[in-house]
Amino acid sequence: MGQLEYIYSSEKNFFAAEVKLPEIIADNEVLVKVSAVGICGSDLYHHKTYQGDQLRLGHEWIGSVVKKGSHVSHLEVGDMVTSSSTLGCGECSYCLRTEVNMCENPVHLCSEKLGALRNYLQISSFNAIKLNSKKPSDVLLEVMAVAEEAMALLEANKIHEPKKALVLGAGTVGILCAYLLQEKGIEVTITDVQTGRVKRSLDVGLKGYPLNFLMMDKSAHNQFDVIIDATSDRESSVSGWSLLPVFGTKNLVAIMVGKYINPIEIKPDQLSKLASRLVFMRGVPLNTLEATVKKWSGHLDFLASKLITHHFEAEKLNEGFEVAANAKVSGKVVITL
Ligand SMILES: [Zn+2]
Ligand SMILES: [Zn+2]
Repeated sequence: MGQLEYIYSSEKNFFAAEVKLPEIIADNEVLVKVSAVGICGSDLYHHKTYQGDQLRLGHEWIGSVVKKGSHVSHLEVGDMVTSSSTLGCGECSYCLRTEVNMCENPVHLCSEKLGALRNYLQISSFNAIKLNSKKPSDVLLEVMAVAEEAMALLEANKIHEPKKALVLGAGTVGILCAYLLQEKGIEVTITDVQTGRVKRSLDVGLKGYPLNFLMMDKSAHNQFDVIIDATSDRESSVSGWSLLPVFGTKNLVAIMVGKYINPIEIKPDQLSKLASRLVFMRGVPLNTLEATVKKWSGHLDFLASKLITHHFEAEKLNEGFEVAANAKVSGKVVITL
């Protein structure tokens, strides 16, 4: 059984490399045939900035088990599975609490070592979460788990029952966060600088506005007791940080979902006036991914129909990344393998 993996090099191109599959896998491992991979903002960031010659991308994936080790009891051949974007060692104190996102010895999908853009993925069964459906829309599960983790952090850190929430950034993560907040009965506004993204948020039934509109509308200022920042600055988008004092109320809880690379200026006085609580997210623990699968696996058709805008075969990876990088035209881009 031969297989391909798709490697990105400083030549700014993906190339397909043949990889020999092992005849035997370890007792605790599974071999998975990857069927689909969603391209994420962090993939795009690394794709844009990488200087070396062997980057492996893709961490939002689904696939079916084709082989399992003799000690694997919770999975059968044919089961659909996914994993967190960080594969935990399964042995450290964090992993024992299912916090693979904090693992002492992790393997990150989307690194020089390993990515999901390959025909077969060999992982320890500890990291493989069984899905409840075989639907292609389940490829959104990992991003939904990011949004569910943001909700869990909000629940753990809220000062009182949230009344009005603002989501900064209407990429897939932002839209799913807003969708979940709305599901909880909280009044939600979502905003972005890209009008195409704002339109997509309207398509899923959210109240979305272009950022410049909200900036000019004084009645929207200092109105929100929850702010979910899903902007990040990895794609040099408008950083949500500067907007917290503009839109937050007193006792603001802000969940910082996106990753920040560039230095930011914090004005402590402005934030202390709001008595704000800033919570930083770092990946998704396995128990959140499991809860997400339980709730959403097989039920993502509607959201996928609105949020996934393009599919590409793996042979057209370069084109797929080009389209994904153009936020004016694309939502979630999915690569089929
Ligand atoms: Zn991602
Ligand atoms: Zn670990």
